[in-house]
Amino acid sequence: MKFFGTMINSGGVLEIGGIKVTELAEKYGTPLYIMDQKLIEENMLKYRENFKSNRFKTTVVYASKAFLSKAICKLVEKYDLHIDAVSGGELYTIKASGISMERVHMHGNNKTDDELKMCLDYNIGSIILDNEEEIERVSNICKEKNQKIKVMLRINIGIDAHTHEYIQTSKHSSKFGESIFDERFPEIVEKIVSDKNLEFLGFHCHIGSQIFDTKAFHEGIEVMIKETKKISEKLNISIPEINLGGGFGVYYTEKDTAIDIEKFMRSMIEHIEKSLEKENMTIEKISIEPGRSIIGNAGSTLYRVGGTKETFGGVKYVFIDGGMTDNIRPALYQAEYEAVIANKLDEIEDEIVTVAGKCCESGDLIIKNRKLGKAEKGDLLLVGTTGAYGYSMSSNYNKAQRPAVVFVKNGKSAISIKRESLEDLVRNDVYTEL
Ligand code: PLP
Repeated sequence: MKFFGTMINSGGVLEIGGIKVTELAEKYGTPLYIMDQKLIEENMLKYRENFKSNRFKTTVVYASKAFLSKAICKLVEKYDLHIDAVSGGELYTIKASGISMERVHMHGNNKTDDELKMCLDYNIGSIILDNEEEIERVSNICKEKNQKIKVMLRINIGIDAHTHEYIQTSKHSSKFGESIFDERFPEIVEKIVSDKNLEFLGFHCHIGSQIFDTKAFHEGIEVMIKETKKISEKLNISIPEINLGGGFGVYYTEKDTAIDIEKFMRSMIEHIEKSLEKENMTIEKISIEPGRSIIGNAGSTLYRVGGTKETFGGVKYVFIDGGMTDNIRPALYQAEYEAVIANKLDEIEDEIVTVAGKCCESGDLIIKNRKLGKAEKGDLLLVGTTGAYGYSMSSNYNKAQRPAVVFVKNGKSAISIKRESLEDLVRNDVYTEL
């Protein structure tokens, strides 16, 4: 398994943030999400320091769907990032962290009226309108509350990014955004611009997630700049902002060539500056929205091995005390991961195994046919790069208790999200005889 951040081999035992995972398992139990805070901070800083230009302002918006807790919100504020939300639940969690709500930008293809009201009550930074129907709804809610709100419009720019179908978002029939190829597109923008309750900031796009094809991002920049120019000329308005979304690919296995944050951010800035020059255009601000590339490699999941099994069909299973309830990605879109037997790092890795969870589903497999060290009951198995879309997509299937999330740094650890208790599982379960 590729080591990231502060991971080291300390006498055969994996150490993260200066603490042996054996100690973390002892103290917090398993399964356990371990977040390497130093690596998260380094990634945030890399974005902040390299996505910077002296021709326009820049904002890095952390995509909170990747992982959200009060601790991550505090880091967002510390490193002067902004943060997005897609639901009332995410808005509420960010608000509960106590950070400034001006940093928050609300997405979603089907925001409810209650969620829109929350955006106004919390005085968030902006709402990213997804479609034409939403314009009037947001405007009416503003009118009711006698408030104005800054808005962007999510647009669909038709870039074909090579990633899994479920995480491609900018194809012509995507459920997200309004297509720039629609002949009514200028009319839709005009509607926003002419609405006195809305302050139109500009266009937003997000071409997909886990993208390695840097050309797709460059193409996206060109289309966004051209479209901004075209519409501002057509409607005779000034459009101050562009948001280019996230989706920068990270390493999960040897098949992935991760995007280098520092290098790629500098190249994006260069490409934006050149495209602006080419179009003879200026812009006030450009934003990006990385999620996975800030938190992905910084998170790991630690499991206890319950046993092994060699099937008649020849598959050797290692059974762990979690599974698809804490990591749905392999079952959902065939995502692949690397792992280690974290308490036996010095042993030879020559067993081809499949790591299976404990859910009542044959598809509950976290890793298929990869080499691992010999695992025995009681060992600790650690799956790397689970920081993004791990905890945030976790479920209570089979009444699994969601694991704890612990942040580690410089030999210290702190719980960020507590493990769910058995009582938590029945907290909302009421029985009334009818
Ligand atoms: N922005 C938007 C609108 C998204 O939908 C997503 C992810 O789906 C992101 C940003 C973050 O993507 P990633 O975590 O791949 O950087």
